Formats: sequence, C-alpha cells, structure tokens
Amino acid sequence: MRLIFIGPPGAGKGTQAKKISEKYSIPHISTGDMLREHRKSGTELGMKAESYMNKGELVPDDVILDMIKDRLSQDDCRKNGFLLDGFPRNLEQKQALDKLLNDIGMSIDKVLVLEVPDDVLTKRLLNRAKKEGRTDDTEDVIKNRLKVYHDITSPIIDSYKNDGLVYTVNGVGDIDDIFGELLKILK
Ligand code: AMP
Repeated sequence: MRLIFIGPPGAGKGTQAKKISEKYSIPHISTGDMLREHRKSGTELGMKAESYMNKGELVPDDVILDMIKDRLSQDDCRKNGFLLDGFPRNLEQKQALDKLLNDIGMSIDKVLVLEVPDDVLTKRLLNRAKKEGRTDDTEDVIKNRLKVYHDITSPIIDSYKNDGLVYTVNGVGDIDDIFGELLKILK
C-alpha cells in the first residue's frame, strides 16, 4: 500500500501515521522527522535545513528530493509500500514524486487529508511547544507554518483530487475514533 498523508501542522498526522504504519507494516516516512534527525546529528544537510525550519519555511526542494529518492529506493519501500507524512509539500514536489514513481512503475493508492481548523491547531501547537520544546512551535513561527500550509501545500490536495485519490477525515476528536475513520478508508 502506497499512501500520502496531508494535513496542517498539529493536525495529528504523525500520531495517526504511526498507527497506520504499524497496522499495515509499512514504513512511516516523515520528512520532518528525517530533517530533525539530521539536525540532531549535525550533518551538512541538517545544518542547511535548520534556518528554514526555525522560520517555518519550506526547506529547498533539492534537499528534500534527494532525501526522498534515497529512502523510497530502499528495499522495505519497494516491497511493502510506504506512508509519506509531510511530503510532498508543494506542487513541484508532487510533480517530482509523480515522475519518480512513474519511472519505477509505481503509483500512489490513496491520499489521506486530515482537516483541523486553524484556531484548534494553534492551541495544540503551543501546547506541544511547552511539552516537547520544538524550536518551530513559537507563536510567530506557528502562524507562518499555517500560512505556508494554506498557500503552498493545500493546492496539492486539488491536484490529487483531479487524480481521484483524495479521502478527507475530520482531525478533531478522539485519537482512536479518528484512526477508526482512517481504517474504514483503507479497507
Ligand atoms: P513537519 O514535522 O512535517 O511539520 O516539518 C517540520 C519542518 O521541516 C517544516 O516546517 C519544514 O521547514 C521542513 N519540512 C518538512 N518536510 C518538508 C518538505 N516536504 N518540504 C520542505 N520542507 C519540509
């Protein structure tokens, strides 16, 4: 199963993606997590990404695409499929993914979209900032991340709608109920 998970920051994508990846034994590929790992290990890529992440801006496509190409070519993804979380994030990345998959004779099965209103997201993210101390969860950066999502990321949903792949789920509510809705779609 090859899935894409789209939703604004704080929608709970990470939590649900982890549950889906366990249930279906497919790798959960989060570009945000991969970038944070690079940052922690102090790699060149991590250092390049840091200033963008701290401002809530998108990291340049070439950095992300190299990372994704590398990851999708690994055996586990080839065999079982994957769940992409946080990628693609703009139309250029979507086109690059379409081409990459086309070149290896694969396609996306479903695109899951998690919807949560901005005021709920802001509250959740500020709360997360207190608990996890993420450097991109300050109020100004949160505002920018939401703007980037609405202006730059959400147009790819329409593009996937044209491909007939989009399934939308309400991301407000109990974690297990939301997971139940997602499972219904995946059945
Ligand atoms: P996330 O954990 O998915 O919210 O990602 C955290 C930050 O990593 C984002 O605000 C971006 O700066 C960067 N990032 C993650 N995925 C991408 C991507 N596909 N394209 C560009 N930047 C990304």
